[in-house]
Amino acid sequence: QKRTSQNRTLVYQPDLQTRASSRLLLENELRDALKNKELSLHYQPIISMQNGSLLGFEALCRWEHKERGQISPIEFIPLAEESGLIVPLGHWALREACTSLKNWIEKYPHFSNLIMNVNVSSLQLLQDNFATSVNEILLNAGIKGSQLKLEITETTLIENAELVRDVLLDLKTLDISLAIDDFGTGYSSLSYLNQFPIDTLKIDKSFVNHMNSSEDSYKIIHVISTLAHTLGMTLVAEGIEEEEQMTALQKLGCHTGQGYLFSKPLANDAAEEYIRKEGP
Ligand code: C2E
Ligand code: CA
Ligand code: CA
Ligand code: CA
Repeated sequence: QKRTSQNRTLVYQPDLQTRASSRLLLENELRDALKNKELSLHYQPIISMQNGSLLGFEALCRWEHKERGQISPIEFIPLAEESGLIVPLGHWALREACTSLKNWIEKYPHFSNLIMNVNVSSLQLLQDNFATSVNEILLNAGIKGSQLKLEITETTLIENAELVRDVLLDLKTLDISLAIDDFGTGYSSLSYLNQFPIDTLKIDKSFVNHMNSSEDSYKIIHVISTLAHTLGMTLVAEGIEEEEQMTALQKLGCHTGQGYLFSKPLANDAAEEYIRKEGP
């Protein structure tokens, strides 16, 4: 038993080193990408499933690597979090998303109530004066706090509960909305939910994906929906790809959605075009 594990260590050692150094390489490249503006944001429409209208967008980061092409945020966001790069990256994303929203609203005043959702990592939220810097971004971009919704994870809430609670209360004084992302996948305990000023629960796409094939996923969504309604929170489902999923979600009282069924995340110009086509 012991021998096997020693052998394993020996066998995997060089491999681990290669991986570590290629990660370091990618980390340096990400630092340059941020400096050289090789990162961009795509925007995925968020839709009312009651009347099909456009409610807002979620800003999602994209990295077009010169040689390697598109690198997924699933790969580079964790890297940015470990290296601390998520702080300048997240700041840039907030500024960029707010500026885009301002531009769209100026062109299409009919959509002056659109809401921009932006993902925020723990490390970013825990920076000194996070709320103040968000406020500066809002003022510079010329949009209201009520037009911004920040998406944070359950882990962020739990790991630094006291500090995070203070930051979130500061954000609420700016009229900013708060959503828990990937809800149901973290270490939820019902008691913590009430301790934070949360407006929205976002059902993770893994549940939506299986809701019509797995009884468990369906039941979990049912429970999350009941929870949201009981606590007076709004509910959004992500990853809706099929008509049947939409119908089932509507029946469960989830009236806001996001997913390929409505639209993929769109580059800036395509998102603007999406708004234009929406009318009036
Ligand atoms: P997330 O916040 O849970 O975002 C939803 C993900 O689901 C996005 O993946 C989106 O493109 C994808 N998606 C949306 N609709 C569908 C659908 O119908 N089917 C399927 N299969 N997927 C769908 P994406 O863009 O690859 O982003 C992955 C994750 O990276 C995000 O998950 C988020 O956690 C993180 N991320 C992206 N941009 C940022 C950012 O600016 N800051 C931070 N902190 N994290 C970010
Ligand atoms: Ca999100
Ligand atoms: Ca998710
Ligand atoms: Ca996430």
